[in-house]
Amino acid sequence: MTETKDEVQTEISQEKDSTRTCAGCGASGDRHTFMRVVLGDDGSLVLDLQRSSFGRGANVHSDPACIKRALRGGFARAFRAEIVTTMPAFREMGQLAVERRLRGLLVSAWRKRALAVGADAARELSSHGGARAVVANDAGSIAQERFVLEMVTNGAVVVAFRRGELGALLGRPEVSVCATSDVGIAQELDRLHALQMSFSSLSSQNESA
Ligand SMILES: [Zn+2]
Repeated sequence: MTETKDEVQTEISQEKDSTRTCAGCGASGDRHTFMRVVLGDDGSLVLDLQRSSFGRGANVHSDPACIKRALRGGFARAFRAEIVTTMPAFREMGQLAVERRLRGLLVSAWRKRALAVGADAARELSSHGGARAVVANDAGSIAQERFVLEMVTNGAVVVAFRRGELGALLGRPEVSVCATSDVGIAQELDRLHALQMSFSSLSSQNESA
């Protein structure tokens, strides 16, 4: 670490104050409205989804426009260091971080018996409202079922993993869909869903735009 005392002080005083500034657009807001990014020793950026990593952090809105501006100079200014992470690398790193967090979330939901696993259980849970679902990429006809389509319309579905991967997490050969109505887990799924959307829209945009 080559931090000067001033920088350390700044970081400490920022911990007491929950206001952060976007490395992209420069706007300030509560820290929970930002993604926290830390700088690795090799000059690459790492998404800190649980805001718990040590090291110097910078903040950026999940808006693709903010991410782009930050990658074009905002992060370098915030860290006062050269950033080697490119847009495609940031996108891939972000998507992997979201998947990793999603795995942890599903396993903890399953352990606390807050997860309805399989189509029948998920359908039943969805009828009570407030539920969120995770649907496998290769869920097939289950993805076309009415309860899933209704949840998609409500923004209540995260599409991730393959059936076999979901199954491996949840102790079954294959799982196409699982759902939860746990309020805390639902909130976190909503946040991950929003991040997933912004990372995927990064990929569909012209990088020179
Ligand atoms: Zn911003």
